[in-house]
Formats: sequence, C-alpha cells, structure tokens
Amino acid sequence: MYLCPSTKIMEDTFKHKGLRRMLAKKLKSKGIHNQTILNAIEKIPRHLFMEAGFVEFAYKDQAFRIGAGQTISQPYTVAFQTELLDISPGDKVLEIGTGSGYQTAVLLELKASVYTIERQRELYLRAQKNLQQLGYYPHFYYGDGYKGKESYAPFDKILITAAAPYISDELKQQLKIGGTLVAPIGAGDTQVMTTLVKVSETEFVQTDFGDFSFVPMLKGIKR
Ligand code: SAH
Repeated sequence: MYLCPSTKIMEDTFKHKGLRRMLAKKLKSKGIHNQTILNAIEKIPRHLFMEAGFVEFAYKDQAFRIGAGQTISQPYTVAFQTELLDISPGDKVLEIGTGSGYQTAVLLELKASVYTIERQRELYLRAQKNLQQLGYYPHFYYGDGYKGKESYAPFDKILITAAAPYISDELKQQLKIGGTLVAPIGAGDTQVMTTLVKVSETEFVQTDFGDFSFVPMLKGIKR
C-alpha cells in the first residue's frame, strides 16, 4: 500500500492484479506479442494513474480523461506504440506528452532511460509526484515537446503520445542515426501511426501502421 499526502490511499489489491492479468491477455489476443510489454502491463497499477472516480474502468482497454482536457491512452495503444519502439534495456528514450505518466512507467519497466516532456504544468507536477510515489524515476521536463531536449540528445528512440501534425526538425535532429521515432501523425480526428527510422543525417524511412486517435500535440507551454 502506498500513502499519498493528499490522503488518497493508493491500494493495489488482488482484484486489481486479476483484472490486469485479463487485460494483458486481451492485448495479446489483439496482436501484442512482446512478452516484456505484456508483463509490464500486468505489473503496473494503471488505476493509480487515474482519478478516483474512474478506478473501476482502469483495466478496460479504453482511453480515459485525466483532467486538464487530456486522456490516459488506451492500453492497446500504449502497448502498440511501445512494440514499435522496439526497446532494448538501456535505450535512451525521449517521450513527448507525459500525461498521466502511465506510458512512462511502461518504458521504465522495459529498462529504458526515459526523458519525458509535458507542456501542461498541472499534469507535469501530478505525474512527477505519482510516478515517484510508485518508484518510477524518469527525467521530467516541463516544456514544449516540439523542441525536444537538445542538451540530452541524441536519443535512441523518440515517442510522441499526442497527435503530431508534423515532426519538427529539432526532433529529427535529436534522433540517433539508426534510431526510431514513433508518432501518430495527422491533424484531423484520426492520425496514422508512423515510424521514422533515421538512416542518415538527412534521410528517414517512413512506415505506416494504421489509424489511431490522440489529443493534439500543441505548441508552447500551459501554465
Ligand atoms: N502518454 C500519456 C498520454 C497523454 S495524452 C499517458 O499515458 O497518459 C497526450 C499528452 O501530451 C497530454 O498530456 C498533453 O498535454 C501533452 N502534449 C501535447 N502537446 C505537447 C507538447 N508540444 N509538448 C509536450 N507535451 C504535449
């Protein structure tokens, strides 16, 4: 049991664990094959990344509101993006859109070294507190993900968890040659899940993986 200063009791019960096992099975049946990712989904208490009122929905394969007009991504989407990233232990990963921090926790369970950026101060502060209480320690930044994190570049992998109308030159530059960027690209209601593999300083190989729906990647920061 974890105890929050807000007096919220962060319990993880056998019932939650059972629900997570079923969720992992469901993701497997939907085509997620990477066992390390399924183990992470089975381990991470997703209900502790959501507002109290949504706890009973935490282990449905659905996205949910997390306040500040944002959502915690659907578990299938988290698993799908993580599978595309093809993480090896020790990979240096830049994540744009910390949100609840759930995806961050998945990356950390895969033993990546995670640099995560959130543009909304409220979410940045909340995710930081929550992840640390659960024992997850990424590098947190409050800022505009379009700019990346130049001082820690290059990254082995870059993950965007908001709908990106385009990929900024900064992010392309901050990816290692041989590295992969995963992002839902598009400005409409749905976006195309895309991987960009950097093959030289100026060339990328792009592959599409079908339609998804994310909240938009916005410019600048929100106080
Ligand atoms: N990975 C998150 C999903 C969050 S939704 C999770 O598992 O909960 C997308 C998040 O991206 C939102 O929190 C939103 O505020 C953030 N975001 C949008 N544009 C951004 C930008 N330019 N830089 C950093 N974060 C951004």
